[in-house]
Amino acid sequence: MLPYGSLSEAETALGRNLTLAETLWFNYSATKSDYFLYCHNILFLFLIFSLAPLPYVFIEIKRLYPFDPYKIQPKVRLSLQEMLNCYKDVMIMFFLVVGPLQLVSYPSIQMIGIRTGLPLPSVWEVAAQLVVYFLIEDYTNYWLHRFLHMNRWGYENIHKVHHEYEAPIGFAAPYAHWAEILLLGIPSFLGPAIVPGHLITFWLWIALRQIEAIDTHKGYDFPWAITKLIPFYGGADHHDYHHYVGGQSQSNFASVFTYCDYIYGTDKGYRYQKKILKKLKEDLANVVEQNGGSYKKSD
Ligand SMILES: [Zn+2]
Ligand SMILES: [Zn+2]
Repeated sequence: MLPYGSLSEAETALGRNLTLAETLWFNYSATKSDYFLYCHNILFLFLIFSLAPLPYVFIEIKRLYPFDPYKIQPKVRLSLQEMLNCYKDVMIMFFLVVGPLQLVSYPSIQMIGIRTGLPLPSVWEVAAQLVVYFLIEDYTNYWLHRFLHMNRWGYENIHKVHHEYEAPIGFAAPYAHWAEILLLGIPSFLGPAIVPGHLITFWLWIALRQIEAIDTHKGYDFPWAITKLIPFYGGADHHDYHHYVGGQSQSNFASVFTYCDYIYGTDKGYRYQKKILKKLKEDLANVVEQNGGSYKKSD
């Protein structure tokens, strides 16, 4: 809710004309309570959990070319029904845990100083805060996730649920035990708590973090993906290996970037596997070349 009765009042208070974005924000938010605005996150998360994985579901069931060759674990194929079962479980947890958590967490947002008023932050301010949020989330999530694997009770009773999908799919990104959803809410909250910004930045952060998680769990590693341009971005290939190894995994704990696993030496198995696969591909290419362009199986 904005403390101005009209656009001209807001302009007088700011001492300048409002930008287009600020005018739109004024028109949308002026008469809505801050609590109601904060709860928009529930709708955003519902839409992201429901819609963002759909292209990968389509690729998976149709085995669409040119996407299909980039399936990371091609031997594991889930049916539409199996993927819908995953979505159903995610939605149960959404309505029982994720949504209610949003409804009751508003005081914490007020306490850390997320603002809803004018002026709006600049694009650069939003971008800088999002980078900081991702870095804080990645580092904190790395240690909490690693702890859940080192701690047998924690793995067996909490984190094992997320590992039911040894070959991840987009819908499985938020598929987890309710305690893990609460626990891993901490890294997501920590960035905004340390560097509080505008509610629009907070919306963007929650949305982008979930879209990133779905991207990381999609099960395909497309060489043309725009995320390949992000320095140290882990992506699907990095996290898929973590699921592939499963409960015994001591590799690839980070949620967003690769540098934590590199610094703390928890990507050795992954890098070794990549080296072996690269060598196998090179050997196969050499055999094909020696056979004049075709692969003949030896007797
Ligand atoms: Zn794990
Ligand atoms: Zn995962």
